[in-house]
Amino acid sequence: MYSKKSVTPEAVNPKDWSPQSWKKFPVKQLPKYPDQAALEQAYNELQNNPPLITSWEVEALKKKLADVSAGNGFLLQGGDCAESFADCKSPKIVNLLKVLLQMSFILIHEMETSVVRVGRIAGQYAKPRSRDYEIVDGEKIHNYRGDLINSITPTEEARKPDPKRLIEGYNKAALTLNFLRALSDEGFADLHHPEYWELDFMKENEYYKEYEAMVNSIQKAVNFMETITPNEFSTTQKINIYTSHEGLNLYYDSAQTQQVPRREGWYNLSAHMVWLGNRTRDLGGAHVEYLRGIRNPIGIKIGPNYDLDHTLKLIERLNPTHEQGKIVLITRFGKDEVENRLPDLIKNIKHEGMPVVWSCDPMHGNTFKTDENVKTRNFDAIVSEIRKTFAIHRDLGSYLGGVHLELTGDNVTECVGGANGLHEGQLHKNYETYCDPRLNYQQSLEIAFLIAKEWNQ
Ligand code: PEP
Ligand code: MN
Repeated sequence: MYSKKSVTPEAVNPKDWSPQSWKKFPVKQLPKYPDQAALEQAYNELQNNPPLITSWEVEALKKKLADVSAGNGFLLQGGDCAESFADCKSPKIVNLLKVLLQMSFILIHEMETSVVRVGRIAGQYAKPRSRDYEIVDGEKIHNYRGDLINSITPTEEARKPDPKRLIEGYNKAALTLNFLRALSDEGFADLHHPEYWELDFMKENEYYKEYEAMVNSIQKAVNFMETITPNEFSTTQKINIYTSHEGLNLYYDSAQTQQVPRREGWYNLSAHMVWLGNRTRDLGGAHVEYLRGIRNPIGIKIGPNYDLDHTLKLIERLNPTHEQGKIVLITRFGKDEVENRLPDLIKNIKHEGMPVVWSCDPMHGNTFKTDENVKTRNFDAIVSEIRKTFAIHRDLGSYLGGVHLELTGDNVTECVGGANGLHEGQLHKNYETYCDPRLNYQQSLEIAFLIAKEWNQ
């Protein structure tokens, strides 16, 4: 059995690995920087900056994820598809924290379990793309790959990979995280008050009575807490939120990978958790090589075309010590494929005894383009994949321990459907994303209600 294999110190800290050993392997989705000297200079600067997070926080998150993998607690991971440097602003950060927090309150209250909050935030600046080029005004130019690499401005010059963006990414991540930490410590108390939640839109929904009862009940619980501990309430409510991004730009991640005094191994100190994208998870590739050497929890995206044997080897490679809370398997099959693809994976992982957190990303397998060529997702398709994923895990005696969502706290119009009945003709109104379409504030709260309902099936 997987969990009974012996653990050697070499497996924790492999001698043939270093933060830059990935450079000897083929690397996908990371363009060549034209100016190597400038790249080296940026890399060195990044290496010497203070870390954004600590190894203690990483270990605390891993412990919480270990509990989730054992069936206790739920992981709520969410945020932008692509953060932009321009949106490193107070209202965006406040709104994202607010929606994640309100969603987590709904889940905690309705599911009677703890919730681990992980934002796609403070470093989610690099994107894999299905095409290297796009055509703009009849001209073929390189594609945008996230603010960490090039600019969204559609000119060939602006699309050149620029190493200075590695430093700017670090700076923006630091500013974001600084504000997040301040908000989480104190002064965000109004979030505890459901009367400030904007729930009127739910009135049209068939479940409105249930929603209303739930909100009233959350409110009662808050009032009770405040009555019994009036002075301690704000301090006892210190919010925990962790950060995550796709481990894609290996220059950014490896420069911030360090050894920590009195600890074994290496930590990526740019985010608490990083994930391996669906397009960069080949065993012989640079991304897997880099990720195998760090102690952070690692997400693995698994899409419809996965190979079972390869996936089992991948998990073994990334978690050779069989540590609990280390691997989060994020399945993103799409509502039409999930029933064909997921059961086999669950059965085999179960058979091997691999301790993983199962998470459902109902976004990336459900993207489509409208007749007007606008990238969108349908709220009902997203809910359908979540429902099916819960049901499959339930049937197989497995535990779905989390969701991975692309969402924002703003009132954007990027995904269709939901209680407000957003339709394709309205998408242009407030379509802001730099990459994939996100759930807006209302759709996000509604999803949280529906997840809780599904959980209680
Ligand atoms: C993403 O999470 O934005 C993403 C690109 O996902 P995937 O690797 O699953 O396609
Ligand atoms: Mn995306």
